[in-house]
Amino acid sequence: MKRQEIIKGMEKYLKVKYGVKIEEAKEYEIFNALSLTLLEGIVDDWNKTTDEYSKHKKAYYFSAEYLMGRALGNNLISLGLYDEVKDILEQYNININKIEEIEEDAGLGNGGLGRLAACFMDSAATLDMPLTGYGIRYSNGLFNQKFVDGFQMEEADNWLKYGDPWSVRKDRDTQIVEFSDMKVKAVPYDTPIIGYGTKNINTLRLWKCEAINEFDFNEFNDQKYDKAVKLKNRADDISRVLYPNDSNQEGKLLRLRQQYFLVSASLKDILKKHKEKNGEITKEFSSLHAVQLNDTHPTLAIPEFIRILVDEENVKFEDALEIAKKVFAYTNHTILAEALEKWDVKLIKKLFPRIHAIIVEIDKSLAKELKSKGYTDISDFKIIANRQVRMANLAIYVSSAVNGVAQLHTDILKDTELNNWYKLYPTKFQNKTNGITPRRWLRLCNQELSALITELLGSEAWVKDLSLLEGLKKFENDEKVLKRFMDIKHKKKEQLADYIKENHGIELNPDSLFDIQIKRLHEYKRQLLNAFYILDLYYRVKENPSMDIPPVTFIFGAKAFPGYRRAKAIVKFINEIGRMVNNDASINGKIKVVFVENYRVSYGEKLFPAADLSKQISTAGKEASGTGNMKFMLNGTPTFGTLDGANVEIAQASGEDNNFIFGLKVEEIEALKGKYSTEEFYSKNKDLKKVIDSLIDGTFDDGGSGDFQDLYNSLMKEGDQYFLLADFESFKATEDQVFAAYKDEKKWAQKCFANVCNSGVFSSDRTILQYCEEIWNIKKTPIK
Ligand SMILES: *Cc1c(COP(=O)(O)O)cnc(C)c1O
Repeated sequence: MKRQEIIKGMEKYLKVKYGVKIEEAKEYEIFNALSLTLLEGIVDDWNKTTDEYSKHKKAYYFSAEYLMGRALGNNLISLGLYDEVKDILEQYNININKIEEIEEDAGLGNGGLGRLAACFMDSAATLDMPLTGYGIRYSNGLFNQKFVDGFQMEEADNWLKYGDPWSVRKDRDTQIVEFSDMKVKAVPYDTPIIGYGTKNINTLRLWKCEAINEFDFNEFNDQKYDKAVKLKNRADDISRVLYPNDSNQEGKLLRLRQQYFLVSASLKDILKKHKEKNGEITKEFSSLHAVQLNDTHPTLAIPEFIRILVDEENVKFEDALEIAKKVFAYTNHTILAEALEKWDVKLIKKLFPRIHAIIVEIDKSLAKELKSKGYTDISDFKIIANRQVRMANLAIYVSSAVNGVAQLHTDILKDTELNNWYKLYPTKFQNKTNGITPRRWLRLCNQELSALITELLGSEAWVKDLSLLEGLKKFENDEKVLKRFMDIKHKKKEQLADYIKENHGIELNPDSLFDIQIKRLHEYKRQLLNAFYILDLYYRVKENPSMDIPPVTFIFGAKAFPGYRRAKAIVKFINEIGRMVNNDASINGKIKVVFVENYRVSYGEKLFPAADLSKQISTAGKEASGTGNMKFMLNGTPTFGTLDGANVEIAQASGEDNNFIFGLKVEEIEALKGKYSTEEFYSKNKDLKKVIDSLIDGTFDDGGSGDFQDLYNSLMKEGDQYFLLADFESFKATEDQVFAAYKDEKKWAQKCFANVCNSGVFSSDRTILQYCEEIWNIKKTPIK
C-alpha cells in the first residue's frame, strides 16, 4: 500500500464510522480506521489465497485456545508498513505506540498451549502453507487480573467492547450444531493471518454461538420477556467465556458443549467445501485434508467425523474409521495427571447420545485389534472405563501421529506415560519441539535489537530464516558490537521501568539485574521456590549489608486459576514479600520484588526483551516444553533453569556455559520418590526452615484466610510433591553464580549474545515445517 492510499483509507473510515477528521479523532478511532484500511488493502490477496489453497491438500489446526495478543503492530511489521505508518501518524502528531496500546489483547487462551497455536498460525502464513485455524470466538477471553491488598481479583475481559476490526463475520458460512436438547447457529468470524514478506494471507476461523431464533415472539408478546430471551442466552453461553483453567481439567457440562460446538461446526465447514468441489466422501478424503488436534480438547472431532460420514454420507463405519485414522493427528501437551481429560459417560450420553454410541463402537474396534495382536489385559488402553471416556486414548487410537512438544517430553511419553501405546504403535510417536514466531517475539517487540541484527547480517532475511542468526557468531568477541548489544538491553529495561512506573507506580532501577519469572501460576512451575530464595536473600543482605551482590530486581507475572487456592496463596505471599522488601530502607534498594498485574501477551512483549535472567524452574519432568524460555533466549537472556522441557535443548543449543542449570534431573526425582523426607531438609537447613516458617510464624499476614498455613501444609504435611525443599540449596548456589558472572560485564554480554546466536532452532517456522512434512504432508502454495 502506498502512503496516499493509507491516508485516504483512514480519512474514509473515520468519516463513515465516526464522522470525524484525522486531526480530531480519538486513539481508538484511529486504531479502528487504520486497521480497516489495512484490511481493505489485503482482502484481494486473502481471497486469492483461500482460492489457491482449495486446489491442494490442506491442514486444519483445531484448538480450543488462540492466545493472539494484539494484531495491529504485528500486521504492520508483516506488511512491511510499520515505519511508513509511524511516519504518517507523526505527521498528524500521533504517536504510533499510543495507537498500538489502545488495542485490547485477543486473550482467547490460557498460556503456552494457546500461544503456540497463535505462533503456528503466523509461521504457516509466512511459509505459504495451506493451514487454517479453527477455534471459538469467546466473548470474554482470559480474565483481567487486579491486586487488592496483594490478593488476586478477577475482572471479565470484555475485549470486544470497541469492536474487532480484524475479524470479518461470514454469515454465509453459518453452520447448525445440534445437541440432544438444543440446536444452535455457529457463525464464523474470519481473521486474516498475514504472512511476513509474502502475499499469502491465511485464515483463522473462530465460531460464535447464536440462537437460531433470537426471540420467541409469542412469548415476547405475552410479556414473558425472560422466557423469550432464555433460549438466546442459552446459546450465547456456549461461546461466552474461555475456561480459565491451565493444566487442569474441568468436568463441566458447558465446557463439553463448547468442545463439541467447535468440532462439529468446523467439520461441517470442511466437509461442505469438500463436497462442493469433489462430490461425495471417499477414501481419497485423507489425501486432501489433515486435522491436528491441539491437546485432547477437540478430540470429539473424531466421533463427530465418523458420525457425519456414517449417518449423513452413507459411508460404512469401518471405512469411516479408517479414513479418520489417516485424517487426524494428536499433540500431547502434558503428563500431569490432573490435566488429562476424562468425561463422564453420563454427560456425553446426555448431550449427544449418537456420539456416545460411536465411541462405544470405536472402543470395540480397538479391543478387537488388541485381542488379535495377542493382548489379554487391555484395561489401560480402553477408551471407556469406570464410566468415563478417556479422551487421550481415543485420540491416540484414531490418530495417524502422536507428538510430544520437546524431546524430553516425547521421551517420557514413549518410555513411561504412554509406554503401552508406544509398544503397540511405535511409529506413531514423533517429537515436535515447540517454537515461537520471530516476528512478534523479536522483530516487533525488540525493534532496536532487530535493527542491530539486520545491520550486522546485512539483510532482514533472518526474520524469515532464523537459523541465519548463527552468522552473528563472528561478532562474539567484537567489543563494539557487544557494547551496542548491551546498550539495547539497557534501553529495553528503561522502557519497562517507565511502563511499570506509569502503570503500577513502582520505581525500578534499570541498572539492577532484572530477574524475571513470567508464566501461569502453578505449583509445578515453582514460583514459591523462587519466592523462598528471594526471602532468604533478603535475610542474608539484612544480616550482612555489605554482602557483595549486584542490585537485583525480581519480577513476577502470572495469573492464577480463580479456583486454585494454593496458586492464589502464592500470589499473595509474593506480594507480601514485595511489600516487606521494597519498604525496608535498610537494604539500600539492593533488592526489589515486583509482581506485575495482568501478565498477558502484550505485557510479555515488554518483559522478555528487558530480562537479564530467565527463570524456568519447574520440577524436572513436569513442564512439557515451555515457550517463554525461548522468547527470553531470542532476546539475549540466559536461562536459569532445571533440565526440564525445552530447557534441555536450550542449554544444548547455547552451551551450558551460557546458562545456569540447577536442581534435580528427571531420573533423580524418580529415584527420590518414596524416600523423600521434607522433615530432613527442613531440620538440617536453618535458612530454609526460616523462610518456610515465615508462612506460619506471623511474619506475613494472609488476611485471616489460612492460605499460608495451607501452603505450609503442602510442603511439610503433604510431602512437597514438587520437590521445592530438595532443590533449594542448588537454586541458592546457582543464583550466587549468576551474581558473580554478572559482575564480569564482557563475559556476561557474551553469554547473552551467544543466546541470540543459537536461538534459530526455536523458531516456530522450523516446528511448523516439521508438522507439514512429517505429519500433514502439505506443501508450500504461494499465490502470484
Ligand atoms: C509464552 C507465553 C506463555 C507460556 O509461558 P511458559 O513460560 O512457557 O509457561 C504464557 N503466557 C503468555 C502470555 C505467553 O506469551
